[in-house]
Amino acid sequence: MQTLLILGASGDLTGRLLLPGLARLIRLGRADGLHLVGAGSDDWTDEQWRERLDGAFAPALAKADDAGRAALQQVRDDSSYHLLDVTRDGLAELVRTLKGPVAIYFALPPAVSQMACSALGPGSLPRSTRLVMEKPFGTDQASAHSLNDKLSKLVPEQNIHRVDHFLGKATVFNILGLRFANRILEPVWNNLHIEKVEVIFDEDLALENRARYYDGAGALRDMIQSHLLHVMALLALNAPSTLHERDLRDHIGSVLRASTVNLDDPTSSRRARYTAGTIGDRGIPDYVAEPGVDASKGTETLTEITVSINNQRWSGVPFVLRSGKALGAKRKEAVITFRPVSHLPVGFTGQDAPTRLRIGFGPDTLQLELDVNGPGDIFSLDRATLSANLNETDLLPYGEVLDGVLAGDPTLSVRGDTAEDCWRIVEPVLKAWSEDLVPLEEYQAGSVGPDAWPSSHGRA
Ligand code: NDP
Repeated sequence: MQTLLILGASGDLTGRLLLPGLARLIRLGRADGLHLVGAGSDDWTDEQWRERLDGAFAPALAKADDAGRAALQQVRDDSSYHLLDVTRDGLAELVRTLKGPVAIYFALPPAVSQMACSALGPGSLPRSTRLVMEKPFGTDQASAHSLNDKLSKLVPEQNIHRVDHFLGKATVFNILGLRFANRILEPVWNNLHIEKVEVIFDEDLALENRARYYDGAGALRDMIQSHLLHVMALLALNAPSTLHERDLRDHIGSVLRASTVNLDDPTSSRRARYTAGTIGDRGIPDYVAEPGVDASKGTETLTEITVSINNQRWSGVPFVLRSGKALGAKRKEAVITFRPVSHLPVGFTGQDAPTRLRIGFGPDTLQLELDVNGPGDIFSLDRATLSANLNETDLLPYGEVLDGVLAGDPTLSVRGDTAEDCWRIVEPVLKAWSEDLVPLEEYQAGSVGPDAWPSSHGRA
């Protein structure tokens, strides 16, 4: 028996992502014996909370077999709700009344999570308690350090899950399996053979009424600091000897410790904001005309940074990380571009394009783009693409997150020192932007992004 206590039970994250993710886990029999407790500042009865569960569990229930239905019903009927201001004393008292090891999910505004941690004194929680912290983890390196300091006085590092839902297991293990379980890639996975690595996360969604959060964050903090740097680390790390938590997270940490953005290069960071346009049949207003946006903040909705990994394997290879909103098409992939061959036999005609490997994230795909002798002129080069669709997990990303939390396995959560390092990498960029050393460009909603950015034309 163990308990999952969700703080912020009436919030958006809980309703839209956590509870549906949890429902899938329960349906698949991976949360047996779970006691679910909601808490928050809304004065709800247990029954009102269970009605919320009914809504969130419905899609999983519709697909469940008899065992899955019974498990979902059991968790629902056994669940309770507590009215609680988490910034005051009651949290530790509540935890002490709950059964089994307790995982506390802080689905709260970041400032409230910090206050809740401050309100919990050392020794106030059983050491076996797991704490699940949402992004953003701090607002800069110093605040992330101070939050780590507070958390380390409450429970051991092993019991702290800093969520990066982007690291759903399937995606992560696609990269690791591809790289380390195949003989052909590792020998060429270095700066002798690879020219450039891009990690792209373009969304066709615009602000979607999330100005309260997004306008204070922007694309760099929202996606690159918290997610894409980790994907980069998985693409770049040396082979760990095991996939256990310590080995894997040591290797991720080692890549990020070696990473910097070279601000002497004026193109090492770019930022832009969308203007009015259309995406499909949707009319998108100017970003600054969206309700709740403060134009004077100069929030970027698209960014691209070039990271250098300063070690022997990667010196000289740009890692371009790009993410943005309101683009004409979704594009979620890592693109590894190989260097040209050292000598192409004289006599070939046609296009000599670089070998490229594309790893797609959702849908999970692999594409290897090669030059071959195609039909027609036997000396003419043609492009061929080897494609594979990878099996996708039945769990939603938050199902994966909760799976790790309930199993007490922090392998796919962000370790404290690494969370600080991610801020160290982006902080100089944020500082340069705040000093207006990098122009805030514009792109039309529904376009590919600013025309002058090479990454806007990456799918050529
Ligand atoms: P919301 O504002 O929607 O929800 C926050 C919840 O916390 C509300 O239920 C609120 O209750 C409750 N709350 C606020 N203050 C207190 C308090 N003192 N004591 C008890 N409960 C309190 O935020 P989100 O759900 O959107 O976000 C939660 C966290 O998840 C944030 O850290 C966010 O960055 C992160 N996140 C969110 C994502 C999303 O898509 N929503 C995606 C990824 C991360 P009330 O409404 O009554 O004030």
